[in-house]
Amino acid sequence: MNAPECSFGLHRTETLPLENSYAGLPPAFYARLLPTPIPAPYLVGASTRAAELIGLDPAEFGKTAFLETFAGNRGLPESIPLAAVYSGHQFGVWAGQLGDGRAVLLGDAPSAGGRMELQLKGSGLTPYSRMGDGRAVLRSSIREFLCSEAMAALGIPSSRALSVVGSDMTVMRESPETGAVATRLAPTFIRFGSFEHWSYRDRREELQVLADYVIDRFYPDLRTVPNPCQALLREATRRTADLVAQWQAVGFMHGVMNTDNMSILGITIDYGPFGFMEAFDAGHICNHSDHQGRYAYQMQPKIGQWNCYALAQALLPLIGDIEDAQSALEIYKPAFENKLDDLLHAKLGLRSKESDDGTLINDMFALLQANHADFTLFFRRLGELQVDNPADDTPVRDLFIDRLAFDAWAVQYRARLRRENSADAARRAAMHAVNPKFVLRNYLAQIAIEKAQNKDFSEVARLLSVLENPFDEQPDNETYANLPPDWANELEVSCSS
Ligand code: AMP
Ligand code: MG
Repeated sequence: MNAPECSFGLHRTETLPLENSYAGLPPAFYARLLPTPIPAPYLVGASTRAAELIGLDPAEFGKTAFLETFAGNRGLPESIPLAAVYSGHQFGVWAGQLGDGRAVLLGDAPSAGGRMELQLKGSGLTPYSRMGDGRAVLRSSIREFLCSEAMAALGIPSSRALSVVGSDMTVMRESPETGAVATRLAPTFIRFGSFEHWSYRDRREELQVLADYVIDRFYPDLRTVPNPCQALLREATRRTADLVAQWQAVGFMHGVMNTDNMSILGITIDYGPFGFMEAFDAGHICNHSDHQGRYAYQMQPKIGQWNCYALAQALLPLIGDIEDAQSALEIYKPAFENKLDDLLHAKLGLRSKESDDGTLINDMFALLQANHADFTLFFRRLGELQVDNPADDTPVRDLFIDRLAFDAWAVQYRARLRRENSADAARRAAMHAVNPKFVLRNYLAQIAIEKAQNKDFSEVARLLSVLENPFDEQPDNETYANLPPDWANELEVSCSS
């Protein structure tokens, strides 16, 4: 009889004002299809912040319309669901056509920051599923959900996650697992591999259509420059460099930086076997399927650049001159180095730059490496350091096996702080605003996943709320900042998802 109640100005699920911008591209860019329904969907987790971003009333969570819609069981009135096509390089090798093998785009909704696409992941077979089953497991869906929202809270460009809807359907991986459907939000999910797809097929016309679509919608300022596609390459390269610098600074490892997982907008997408650095090791490989360590922590900057070269190769027919493509790529190195330098200065609470700061920073990384100190706790506790009181260094000092080596570095650091008259309280506040206390450690995700697999979803919600405020002291959640327990050493994350 009456419409379900909703808070003023917020939408119910079925009144989300969807448009279908991507569906306006020629039919070769996608396959129209409906998601495959799942039996008896239930709510595993939902993000109030993500909902509010698209004006959806969080009171909808758990209601039948929300569950059925974001399970893929029920369509939205204005939606033209589709799977987009793209290709890519996997682990450095051309892999041909890859996706969307298990994602369905519902359309795009308005948000404060421009329109946001709503995409289901794990919603069944598409014409691009290859050998896959079109599904995603609960485990990887929870990880993607939590990490998307955690990254956004850290201020790192990322796709967002609205919800995870579970079902008792079984999905076969190494062993039978519970399946789920995650709903992701991003201005677009167009990736480097979307361009490679047309370029490798010598389809210049489609390549141009895609470039025009991206420029008009997301880089409108580039429309009027002499060579818009060269400018697109430069801007995507700059944003990718910026993004990877932000990953390095927070210790985030993506795990599968294949070109089909690189956003043309320079945002983090396609969370799989990611990890956050704990005991520092620059060579750490978070993805157990990555036997060569191609995507190890210290490799990410180089791989980001490699991927931009792949994008340049794809865009070359539109750019025209190879030298123009090369000159656009030149921005990568300085953009990355400058961004990382800025971020590391901020992480160390340094307001100025000195010519010799590289030594202080390199010595810090050498110290972290030699002692395998916890990356997150190191910066957080370093924020508590008092310039004139080395006797109170214990919390940060205790992260190092070789305490004397820490002391020696701290002498250097203190001297540097004194040279810019650094005040303890102000520096502490500034450092705590950039050095998170809470990151999505694998073991925290694992606890939430195991409970969810037993139908207790409380930990997904609680962990989300902790990660939504990563820079705050949270006295009730102190344990979420703890070092991983011993059993966490046994955890393996791989491409299986
Ligand atoms: P990823 O490296 O995890 O992003 O996977 C590469 C591509 O494989 C994705 O773009 C998907 O289209 C496809 N894919 C992964 N898992 C599945 C699956 N279970 N069913 C169908 N396609 C899949
Ligand atoms: Mg992918």
